[in-house]
Amino acid sequence: MTVTVATLGFPRIGARRELKTALEHYWNGQGSAADLLSAAASLRKAAWERQRALGVDAIPSNDFSFYDHVLDTSAMVGAIPPRFEFSGNRVDLDTYFAMARGRSAETGGNDAGAACSHGGEIETEAGTGVNTGTVAEEMTKWFDTNYHYLVPELEEEQVFRLTSTKCVEEFLEAKALGIITRPVLLGPVTFLLLSKAQGKPFDTLTLLPRLLPIYVDVLRRLAAAGADWVQMDEPALVLDLSETARAAFAPAYAALTQAAPTLRLMLATYFGALEENLPIALSLPVHGLHVDLVRAPAQLADVLAGARADLTLSLGVLDGRNIWRADLNALLAQLAPLAASGRALVLAPSCSLLHVPLDLERETDLDAEIKSWLAFAVQKISELRVLADALNIGPTNVAAGATKNNATGLSEWGPEGVTDGWREHMRAAFEASARAVATRRTSPRIHAQAVQQRAASVTGKMVQRSSPFPERRVQQKAALGLPLFPTTTIGSFPQTADVRKARAAHAKGTLSTEAYQRFLRNEIASAVAWQHEVELDVLVHGEFERNDMVQYFGEQLSGFAFTKHAWVQSYGSRSVRPPIIFGDVARPAPMTVAWWAYAQSLTKRPMKGMLTGPVTLLNWSFVRDDQPRSATCLHLALAVRDEVLDLEKAGAEIIQIDEAALREGLPLRRAERQRYLDWAVSCFQIAASGVADRTQIHTHMCYSEFNDILEAIAAMDADVISIETARSRMELLDAFAKFDYPAEIGPGVYDIHSPRVPETASMTRLLKEAQLYLKAEHIWVNPDCGLKTRTWADVKPSIRNMVAAAREMREAM
Ligand code: GLN
Ligand code: ZN
Repeated sequence: MTVTVATLGFPRIGARRELKTALEHYWNGQGSAADLLSAAASLRKAAWERQRALGVDAIPSNDFSFYDHVLDTSAMVGAIPPRFEFSGNRVDLDTYFAMARGRSAETGGNDAGAACSHGGEIETEAGTGVNTGTVAEEMTKWFDTNYHYLVPELEEEQVFRLTSTKCVEEFLEAKALGIITRPVLLGPVTFLLLSKAQGKPFDTLTLLPRLLPIYVDVLRRLAAAGADWVQMDEPALVLDLSETARAAFAPAYAALTQAAPTLRLMLATYFGALEENLPIALSLPVHGLHVDLVRAPAQLADVLAGARADLTLSLGVLDGRNIWRADLNALLAQLAPLAASGRALVLAPSCSLLHVPLDLERETDLDAEIKSWLAFAVQKISELRVLADALNIGPTNVAAGATKNNATGLSEWGPEGVTDGWREHMRAAFEASARAVATRRTSPRIHAQAVQQRAASVTGKMVQRSSPFPERRVQQKAALGLPLFPTTTIGSFPQTADVRKARAAHAKGTLSTEAYQRFLRNEIASAVAWQHEVELDVLVHGEFERNDMVQYFGEQLSGFAFTKHAWVQSYGSRSVRPPIIFGDVARPAPMTVAWWAYAQSLTKRPMKGMLTGPVTLLNWSFVRDDQPRSATCLHLALAVRDEVLDLEKAGAEIIQIDEAALREGLPLRRAERQRYLDWAVSCFQIAASGVADRTQIHTHMCYSEFNDILEAIAAMDADVISIETARSRMELLDAFAKFDYPAEIGPGVYDIHSPRVPETASMTRLLKEAQLYLKAEHIWVNPDCGLKTRTWADVKPSIRNMVAAAREMREAM
């Protein structure tokens, strides 16, 4: 039986982020719908042809999306909330984008706010509109990735109907190019589980019988169009599921497999182990099952033991979530007996390649040795092809083969068989893989003895402040002398066009370092002067020197590498370019002290030191896979600790350590969460606990789901935490109060995602509400996130009103 190669999904934004350009042109009127459609068609064609050239046997279609594949599914099944006033037969572009971005009364639309949810550098989108029209669907993270999807909204009496045949059209489009693709659909059970109930609460799974006929219809159309296999993504199978959810798969897949007798379904699971859901997956009448063997290598034995003999197994052997070159020799050894067993095998990345950048070859400035350790989407596919061919011709033939040195690379690959050139290519690939494995084990770029020794010698004392919070609080109160309801901001001020222009000019070399620094000092000075004028209590320098809250630090730490083109889609037109943590991390020199000291020199009021925490640095990077994430996080924690201590030494009385992404790292399975939280919290504490009792440590987290991590947040033992509450009202504080959260809290009273200037009265109302849950002397007054995405024109009046609200609160005491 031949081992074949599949991809579950391919990066859709294009090598030069053509999708972003096309979308933005369409949105701002620079391009027509026809322009957008043709740009999209070229992107799809390029993706299909690239994969064909790389030798993929099962090439996906319908993995492309104008914005998001979950939104595409809503569009397919007619799950269009009534506020979009859609009544047609086929969802048009404008309805589709309205669901994604909202429809605005005056301007061209607004992005559903996710200003906090960036990972790594996020580009700022030109001109966000005023969101007074129709609000977009809510956006949230796709499982534990940094990709965001639009949450389907379903009513209890939801009527589904086929309102998009995109998947059929794209299948035919590829077929016209001579490529029979394997269309990808988000499975009905996962779709319903990701949806949220509108109106009165109900279990969205009850809608399954109504939803299935749409899927049956779609599958029939795909079969009629000539599809052989269809990939049904059901990643929900790696979650802790309710009994109802577990019971939903059997009837769903009974109906789907009966839809079209000629069609074969590949049930795709990824992002973890099936565990107790494995028997369900194995009992379904599908033709193939894809399992993630990167996140969950141990499940292979159970899968093999339980799988029907005629079940095609798709093995997710390469990491679709990370950028490291695979150990091909180890994989070959592991897979060889399996390939000899006669079962139909497919090799694939663990999940869609949507989560990795496209092509390593474009990184011409990357250090050659570091580059030799990496593989992006294109390289991963090459690895799979080589691995599959090695299994097909027999492992020994790879090593022994190729006497002629006529390697011409990938074009040599062909269905006719393995040519000498290809054999040579394979041998080279196995050798390069072995070399990468060997050099990563020993390279001094990766392994820094001093860092490892320090990490090994962390003591319990380093994970704890000297005194408990109540004692620290007395000292901090005396040292800081702040009023009740102290006012502050989260750190960044508007990154204006001027700021970005200056940074770009400096990076290009057209603005000298001296001139750039002078510019930044001026920005800081005017921000400080303005904060004085509006009488904020605790000031910030404004973060003008930072391109991004991870990259800025990563660039000054050892063990980090940065790419030029390695963009990964975050949502819609937005992409991030996560740094790569390839080695032991250390901080050679202070990173923020000079900027902080300059800012503090301009005022007698406390100036907050402003740092990104270790867990956030970790969660927004591509992390080395040669040691546990917790070990890498410990390096980061020690580096941040050094910075905290240097800030304190320079005179900082308040230091904020942002952990915006702490919650993002939470494992999908409940049973694994405590372990993560334990080490994540320890790392934060290591970063924070070196300081004296009188130094006040703040942290900031910008999301509104805390219930499941409250205990961990309390264990972080920060003196003050600022959180997002403006949109979720103050109800969130109820959880903090019930939990008896010990320290001080700054519930965000100014929703920075909305361009509206908040009224003083609305903020006093929120603060009074907060008082129902918290003691007045525990409440801080601040926006709910940094102000970098806003303009001074809305920041100035908003902060003025916020300070006025705090004043009113004090007067009312
Ligand atoms: N200090 C950062 C800022 O104000 C925090 C950003 C964040 O939480 N995402 O921009
Ligand atoms: Zn935030």
